[in-house]
Amino acid sequence: MLRLRNVDTFYGNIQALRGICLNIEEGEIVTLIGANGAGKTTTLMTICGVIPPLSGTIRFRDKPIQHLPPNKIVRMGISQVPEGRLIFPQLTVMENLELGAYLRTDKENIGKDLDYIFSLFPILAERAKQQGGTLSGGEQQMLAISRALMGRPTLLLLDEPSLGLAPIIIRQIFDIIKKVNEDGTTVFLVEQNANQALKIAHRGYVIENGAIMLEDSAERLLKNEAVRKAYLGI
Ligand code: ATP
Repeated sequence: MLRLRNVDTFYGNIQALRGICLNIEEGEIVTLIGANGAGKTTTLMTICGVIPPLSGTIRFRDKPIQHLPPNKIVRMGISQVPEGRLIFPQLTVMENLELGAYLRTDKENIGKDLDYIFSLFPILAERAKQQGGTLSGGEQQMLAISRALMGRPTLLLLDEPSLGLAPIIIRQIFDIIKKVNEDGTTVFLVEQNANQALKIAHRGYVIENGAIMLEDSAERLLKNEAVRKAYLGI
């Protein structure tokens, strides 16, 4: 579904990604794990067209997207939930959700998708008229995921959804990510919380200093000695 080949991304003369190659197949949850500053967010920003690569190719369903602007990439079916959630704090929960559907042309299906989102996150239905900024951190993360889903993506990119949340909320959010995937959305999950991410993922990649160091099934990565030492604190 998505294929990155030899992707190099720079901030000025600082090289943040070095020859990244990775694949995401339809129906999978693929996770990218790595330490602070390893290049996880840059990988997502590069896929979304926010920071285009200097060299390399990115193909989505066999079409090259590495030179497309972000709005075209969203229209093709890729939505991102950015790190730190970035919902609109002054707008209500419902208005945030409506903005997620802004680029859609099939407006007649939006009501059905709202019902789906409220079935995933009943709390958002209760808070529909409340300002986004007054929600708890966990609820804001739920809103950020829901807003991305309102764009009806076929590929959902998630940047550290567990950041700053209590363990019980993290488990809840990861259960929903798994459910969204089972309902048909392919997921690329960027996480520092390697343990939780590998538990729901099918496959994973490990990134260090802007380069992919390891790729394997999530099951094998969870058992890998080096991964356990570096990322699972075991
Ligand atoms: P974190 O888990 O802390 O979010 P990350 O794995 O997502 O880290 P990136 O944010 O992708 O890492 O950063 C990769 C590298 O690029 C780091 O060395 C970082 O300092 C650098 N970098 C990121 N954004 C910029 C920027 N706007 N200008 C210059 N360098 C940047």
